[in-house]
Amino acid sequence: MSCLFCRIVEGTIPSTAVYRDEQCYAFLDIDPKAPVHVLVIPRKHIASLAEAEEGDQALLGHLLWTAAEVARNKGLANGYRVVVSTGRDGGQTVDHLHLHVLGGRSMTWPPG
Ligand code: AMP
Ligand code: ZN
Repeated sequence: MSCLFCRIVEGTIPSTAVYRDEQCYAFLDIDPKAPVHVLVIPRKHIASLAEAEEGDQALLGHLLWTAAEVARNKGLANGYRVVVSTGRDGGQTVDHLHLHVLGGRSMTWPPG
């Protein structure tokens, strides 16, 4: 399997786990852009949000719920940001759907 995040889900590439269940896995971003920076990914390989199919709707909802659960567990009571970079213009660099959960500092808008 050549996909980096599939390898992380399998455990053949190490990561620091934050949350796991039968549908998804959450782990620390290797290059954090905020005091809290967690990635939430589906165990199933979906290349990006644009590649998600109709049958993935419940999984997409579960990923968003998990992002909120991670934020609660990390104590982000003042708020946080969830980002899903999608495709070239979206700045996506790893072609396995992932939600960034960023918190622990004030975010600015618009993003770069
Ligand atoms: P994006 O650029 O939105 O596709 O996000 C990809 C994210 O994956 C970046 O924030 C990277 O820092 C992160 N990343 C890349 N490789 C690893 C890794 N081996 N472990 C954890 N995070 C990673
Ligand atoms: Zn993958």
